Amino acid sequence: MKIAFIGLGDIGEPMATHLARDPFELVVWNRTSSKAERFARDHKAKVASTPAEAVRDAAIVITCLPSSAEVEAVLHGDNGILDAMRKGSVLIDCTSGDPPTSRSIAAELGGRGVEFIDAPVSGGTTAAKAGTLTVMWGGEATVFERVRPVIEAFGKKIVHAGPVGSGDALKAVNNALLAVHIISTAEGLAILAKAGVDPKVALDVINASSGRSNSSENLIPQRVLTRAFPRTFRLALLEKDIAIAAVMAEDLHARTPVISLTAERFHEAREKLGESADHVEAVKMVEEENGVELK
Ligand code: NDP
Repeated sequence: MKIAFIGLGDIGEPMATHLARDPFELVVWNRTSSKAERFARDHKAKVASTPAEAVRDAAIVITCLPSSAEVEAVLHGDNGILDAMRKGSVLIDCTSGDPPTSRSIAAELGGRGVEFIDAPVSGGTTAAKAGTLTVMWGGEATVFERVRPVIEAFGKKIVHAGPVGSGDALKAVNNALLAVHIISTAEGLAILAKAGVDPKVALDVINASSGRSNSSENLIPQRVLTRAFPRTFRLALLEKDIAIAAVMAEDLHARTPVISLTAERFHEAREKLGESADHVEAVKMVEEENGVELK
């Protein structure tokens, strides 16, 4: 089964390693070609010199790009994949994309006999390396059945969210909750630091109580208190996800002021910390505003 993988970023690269083995024949393309060449040196994969070349004979194409805008660019840009994908093939978009763009891509591909499912992932780079990602997909069950072995190669919990765009919608809301938890936990710990309570003591109690979350149990102890702040998921991408959730809320006339405010806070954090900062570094903004360091 020939597979083309486009986008060897922080999460795409470890996902692709699970496809660089039999029964798959993997071809990779990455904008920065040195990353694709390094990947092919270390794994069973060929490198294509353009997106069109990567997908030409592929039964399945996977995109894992920052946002739907880059998926559109790879479809329609120079040497784009739209004209090169063969009839009967399937595009699995693992980007955390936005639902309206995914629906419009699905319609455009459908007119050319190419199927589409949106299949964003969660679990971070650790689950990507282990091949145990959660995959939330949107589309037709008959299409999913054709690509199931590919998704099972990197996914463990695999859930049908609904029609095309539903995977993106669910992913955006999940990540909006992640953003709310990071900021609100940092704010809570800042209050307590100002009140003279040690953040380690505070987290010990919070994590045995109802205020706990993945942020309090894992992200803040492992990345903030240690001051390690490793880069696994760019803050700019979380800013994009919560913005998708905020736009969905607006379009659907849902009243969600906490999500809207958190979207603004992540926008501020990205402006302060830049494009390559990790998402957990948003805590640094809260620390700076409050004159505390959580350690
Ligand atoms: P990165 O920013 O690390 O990588 C992005 C990839 O897209 C790179 O391969 C980059 O190429 C490529 N790219 C960027 N712009 C373009 C463009 N205009 N044309 C072609 N290629 C382009 O992102 P991640 O791998 O972290 O994330 C990918 C997707 O997965 C995002 O939607 C993200 O929200 C989602 N995600 C990420 C998780 C994580 O833990 N990192 C977890 C779950 C979901 P180049 O190498 O040249 O920069």
